[in-house]
Amino acid sequence: MSLQPFYRDSWCEVNLDAIQYNIKQLKQVLSDDTEIFAVVKGNAYGHGDIQVANAALEEGVYGLAVTLLDEALKLREAGIKAPILVMSWVRPEDVKLAAENDITVTVFQKEWVEQAKVHLFNQTLSVHIKIDTGMGRIGIRTLEEMEDLIKELDDSHFKVTGAFTHFATADEEDESYYRNQQSRFTECIGMLKSYVKDDNIVIHSGNSAASMRYPNDMFDAVRFGISMYGLYPSPFVKQIQPIDLQPAFSLHSKLIHVKKLPAGEGISYGKTYETQGEEWIGTVPVGYADGWIRRLHTQHVIINGKKMPIVGRICMDQFMVRLDGPYPVGEQVTLIGRQGDEEVTVDDIADTLETITYEIPCSISYRVPRVYVHNQEIMDVENKLYLEKNRLK
Ligand SMILES: *Cc1c(COP(=O)(O)O)cnc(C)c1O
Repeated sequence: MSLQPFYRDSWCEVNLDAIQYNIKQLKQVLSDDTEIFAVVKGNAYGHGDIQVANAALEEGVYGLAVTLLDEALKLREAGIKAPILVMSWVRPEDVKLAAENDITVTVFQKEWVEQAKVHLFNQTLSVHIKIDTGMGRIGIRTLEEMEDLIKELDDSHFKVTGAFTHFATADEEDESYYRNQQSRFTECIGMLKSYVKDDNIVIHSGNSAASMRYPNDMFDAVRFGISMYGLYPSPFVKQIQPIDLQPAFSLHSKLIHVKKLPAGEGISYGKTYETQGEEWIGTVPVGYADGWIRRLHTQHVIINGKKMPIVGRICMDQFMVRLDGPYPVGEQVTLIGRQGDEEVTVDDIADTLETITYEIPCSISYRVPRVYVHNQEIMDVENKLYLEKNRLK
């Protein structure tokens, strides 16, 4: 697949080899009969849904999981035939589209089933039942609700093909709440299986944290999200490293302007930075419209294998960096990723912003083109030559 050509010197490099490596690592700890749903919601956590989905499927995952019907339809339009689960609420009036495109949707409301029925003609909709065992977000909470829902679903328009829950604390050191959710889920599944006698029903509970830490607790499948992208779900899980991971995401740009300034010159809006002596200042064409938000003004970037500080405020489209000497226009700047021995990780950025790793690649905006590396080759044909020439190893 060839992507849009682009004419700016900033890009995210998405390493599909790393994604496949991470799936391999998880498979090594999971039991042979536990399948994987690759979670590609939110444009694959900002990495690019179609490319990540294809790479994951090539690595043998069972299916894909997204949040919105729109996301599922986009994957179908790209020619992807694998099972797709929409993990959140779909409007009952849209179920016909889901059924026609062989997309599995999530159910947890009896009223929803009644409403959806009207929109299904000769079609059968595949559904997974969502059980809320302690996340408090969506799902049925009691065995009575489960009974009512199953009765309502006993209709030729619906086929129950799975059931699942979601953990709230599987990435924390204290295991007690996880254990609690796990036993509630086991109880619900026992009841479900007494109603729905189908050996092919897919039971799944684990997110990245649970599937890496408790691979033997997993049922028929897991939903592998953040760690497929090579990031740990929390600092605690990073510390215990249940499996080895390789980050897939990096962010690069190039200097567009370099100048030597005398002492006492102001840099950027508000003149919050003033040169101390004679200084070399470079301009990087990335800003908050790219998702490189103003709070990142305390970060360092990597140039010529060395960390150099951002100075002054980050603008919408540019920011300035204090260089350790003169560099040519076109010198590569790594905002996230590695150059030689130096590295700025997604975790570093998440720490600076006091948030979780998940948020970082998701917030680098659509304006920054994603470039894919697969089998150590740049996949994107339009920009291949340009990037091969410019990419640092
Ligand atoms: C996002 C999501 C996942 C994946 O979670 P990770 O922590 O990224 O592995 C799994 N299940 C549901 C319901 C989700 O919303």
